[in-house]
Amino acid sequence: MSRRQDRLPVQVDPYRLAEQGREYDGELPLRQMKRLLPLLATETGVAAVSLRFGVDEMGVHYLHGTIQADLSVACQRCLEAMRFPAEIDLSLGFVGSTAEADRLPGDHEPYIVESVPVMLADIIEDELLLALPQIPMHDLEECPAQDYVEPEEEQDKAGQDNPFQVLADLKKTPDKD
Ligand SMILES: [Zn+2]
Repeated sequence: MSRRQDRLPVQVDPYRLAEQGREYDGELPLRQMKRLLPLLATETGVAAVSLRFGVDEMGVHYLHGTIQADLSVACQRCLEAMRFPAEIDLSLGFVGSTAEADRLPGDHEPYIVESVPVMLADIIEDELLLALPQIPMHDLEECPAQDYVEPEEEQDKAGQDNPFQVLADLKKTPDKD
C-alpha cells in the first residue's frame, strides 16, 4: 500500500504529517501565491511538488522533496520576460522558534512553525521566493537591451568614467586666482 497521495492538503500540521510519514505529489497554481505574483512577469503555470514528510533518527520532523516551476520574471536590464526554471531540493526541519532552529541537528534548513495548522502553499511559496534571483537578468548576449549597455560595460572595464575618479580629478584641479 502506497501512502503517496495526489491531492495536496491545504492546511497541514507538519509535525503530525511527519509522524505519519505522509507523501504527496501535486501541483499548485502560481496565481495563488500572492507574495510571489508581484515578482512574476506572467501568472500562468504551476509549481509541481513532490513531498515526503518524516522523522529522522535525531527526532527532527522533516519535509524532503522537490519543487519545480517554470517561472517567468522581468529582466532588470530590458524589462522583458525571461524564463527562470526553479528546481528546488527541499530539506526542511520543522522547529517552533529561532532558538530551536539554532539547535537543529543535521543539515536540514530550519522552517519555523509559528502556529499550527500551516498553509502548505506558504511553505512552497517561501522556497520559491528564496530561489528567485535578487536581480534577474538575461545573459548579456541574449538580452534585447544588450546594445544599450555594452559601451558602458566596456568603459567600466577600461576604468574610464569612474565617478569617483572624476571627483578626484576635480579636487586636484587648482583654483585660479
Ligand atoms: Zn534582458
